[in-house]
Amino acid sequence: MRWLRFRQGENEYTAYLDGEFARAVTGDIYSGRWHDTGRTFHLAEVEFLTPCRPGKIICVGLNYRDHAAEFKMEVPAQPVLFLKPPSSLLPHGGAIVYPDGVRRLDYEAELAVVIGKKARHVSGEQAREVVFGYTCANDITARDLQKIDQQWTRAKSFDTFCPLGPWIATGLDDSDLPVSLLLNGEIRQSSRTAQLAFDVPFLVSFISSVMTLEPGDVILTGTPSGVGPLQKGDTVTVSIGGIGELSNTVI
Ligand code: MG
Repeated sequence: MRWLRFRQGENEYTAYLDGEFARAVTGDIYSGRWHDTGRTFHLAEVEFLTPCRPGKIICVGLNYRDHAAEFKMEVPAQPVLFLKPPSSLLPHGGAIVYPDGVRRLDYEAELAVVIGKKARHVSGEQAREVVFGYTCANDITARDLQKIDQQWTRAKSFDTFCPLGPWIATGLDDSDLPVSLLLNGEIRQSSRTAQLAFDVPFLVSFISSVMTLEPGDVILTGTPSGVGPLQKGDTVTVSIGGIGELSNTVI
């Protein structure tokens, strides 16, 4: 299934996709205790919200071998984790705000994992049981600030720096999904999740050994090679096979 959240008028809805329509539900999609309301909305008439509301967004740096190579770095022996704040979230169709004073703003196409169950110390074998589904993310990065600060909080955390969506796809095999990024319609990144240095089960297990994962939390699994700069006026689209396309403009 494909789960989304959207606004229409004053109201916010959780829904699943049915062709060109969203069918609104009530209840808790993570536990499976939800009910169809019978209300349907054409996708063309809704304003997308981020498909989940994570308490935390855990990100992995340098997790594709080709991306580590383009920065002349080795893939680390263990995953390098950092956080983006929920205030950086931006839905499909929203505008990425190029901050004043930033000189280099980069896109990073990433597979995002959405957690479905509270999880602590899960094994790699148990990891997929706590995954609800998958969506597209763009780990927007102020590359100049990342170099100046030598740690990543400011560079990764501006409002609008975490486009996420358009929906959560469930029931996917995450082991070899095509991940690509189009800048103004031209392909700039193209890889597959089979190229991940640390795969999804390993990451879920590793992160759950550090912190408790909660339903709706999001893991950004890292970006492949081909990262590059954005300019005001650009349209940037993350496309992942089996999920869909996350498209945003830069203002
Ligand atoms: Mg990244």
